[in-house]
Amino acid sequence: MIRKGMKLYSILFGVCPKCHQESMYQNTNPYALSEVIKMQETCSHCKTKYEIEPSFFYGSMYVSYAVGIAFSVAAFIISYNILGSSLTIAFIAIIATLIGFMPVIMRLSRNIWINLFMSYDKELAEKPEVKKG
Ligand SMILES: [Zn+2]
Repeated sequence: MIRKGMKLYSILFGVCPKCHQESMYQNTNPYALSEVIKMQETCSHCKTKYEIEPSFFYGSMYVSYAVGIAFSVAAFIISYNILGSSLTIAFIAIIATLIGFMPVIMRLSRNIWINLFMSYDKELAEKPEVKKG
């Protein structure tokens, strides 16, 4: 259902927002904590520069606020409404979720942020890969 060419594909998998051909991150595992936000400078496939302007990704902090709330609401509904826990436990579940998913939330926010400014480009995606010097 989710495939290359959809914004959701780039957001969920952290791939280049223009060609969807490769990861924007140096380490694709978000739980390699020292490398959570280490990104490639440019896409080696289509040469898109990810950091459009200096400090571009500071803006993703606004997005991470919204993403954090979405995770919190999900954690609350699962623990309080579905599992029938007490309010105290539901509150602890929210904190645990926010801490446990922090690397994922940080990356999702960056992916959403950059996808607000860039869109999939079929021509760039199909261009044969430029060999690295
Ligand atoms: Zn690319």
